[in-house]
Amino acid sequence: MIVREQVPLSELTTFKVGGLARFVCECESLEDVAEAINFAQSQNLPFTVLGEGSNVLARDQNYEGVVLLMYMQGTSYRDEGDQVLVTAGAGVSWDGLVSEAVERVLWGLENLAGIPGTVGASPVQNIGAYGAELQTLFVSANVFDAHTKTWSSYDRNDCQFAYRDSVFKRNRSLVIGEVTLKLSNVGTPQLGYSDLRTLVQEGKTLTTPRTIAENVRQVRSHKFPDLVQHGTAGSFFKNPIIEPELFASLCSQYGAMPSYPAVGGIKIPLAFILDHILGLRGYREGKVSLFGNQPLVLVADRGATAADIDAFANAIAKKVFGATGIVIEREVQTM
Ligand code: NAP
Repeated sequence: MIVREQVPLSELTTFKVGGLARFVCECESLEDVAEAINFAQSQNLPFTVLGEGSNVLARDQNYEGVVLLMYMQGTSYRDEGDQVLVTAGAGVSWDGLVSEAVERVLWGLENLAGIPGTVGASPVQNIGAYGAELQTLFVSANVFDAHTKTWSSYDRNDCQFAYRDSVFKRNRSLVIGEVTLKLSNVGTPQLGYSDLRTLVQEGKTLTTPRTIAENVRQVRSHKFPDLVQHGTAGSFFKNPIIEPELFASLCSQYGAMPSYPAVGGIKIPLAFILDHILGLRGYREGKVSLFGNQPLVLVADRGATAADIDAFANAIAKKVFGATGIVIEREVQTM
């Protein structure tokens, strides 16, 4: 295991901001994970886990703790009739896994193409896109508990999945080492979302896992700024799920708006509120702005600080609350 000291978090996160991490442990095996946690405990320091750092806002203050970088690689496939179980190390790139699966003509991951981050991070917020969600493919994860210092298998129930949520968000002593997903040799394209329906109407042939994945990636690429020039963590907030009464009152105040039935209420696209109700598409304060092509995406220009991003996000949340009474939640986690 390689241990580095005083590492800028701006180099480990896609927002490209943050202070120094006191220690960084590069974990290339399950044994390294246990060793890194022992190391943190022996130093009396907290630890945190990073994959590609694509859903994290690192504070400007130095992190007096140990960052575990998940570098565990390796994928293996096991046939079970029409289904195929794939097990991947936590450090495998999520989109790399999608590419591998679609090359094998396996169904299940194609709508989840182009999501940044690692396989190990995918259960943490139960990633989802275009009608597909990790929990429906999820079989198990090999999880290390820093309290008991043991590895155990977590099934779907253990993970307590919900919309962009799981037990791993609440219990930070759990570290995911490997994930097993169930893919299929047979499948049908899921093209219900309007972005995908539009592609079909434009004449695109979306009939195989590979063609769907390629097109999803292309659609998504328009919704992100240039990651070399700018910092971002993609969608900064979750799409809110609200009570039917509040939805009815917003429609009477602002007119019809897109909505989708969801567990616990009605889900409305926050981008619609930011754009059509608040007129904030492209809104900027100093070095932080809402991306013009997708207002749910916060963009930090070079020189922005975590404090700038935090203040901007709070200001946006305040505007949303002022206009709609909705308390929006962050998808991005602060460390
Ligand atoms: P979008 O497709 O315009 O959707 C905005 C919101 O409307 C989302 O909450 C989405 O639900 C919902 N929605 C749209 N069409 C729907 C339908 N036919 N049935 C049910 N719900 C529908 O959003 P976008 O920001 O451009 O993102 C594209 C996709 O990537 C979305 O599915 C979004 O959730 C996903 N995404 C995921 C993550 C993540 O996992 N961290 C981050 C960014 C974006 P869902 O959220 O349930 O899809």
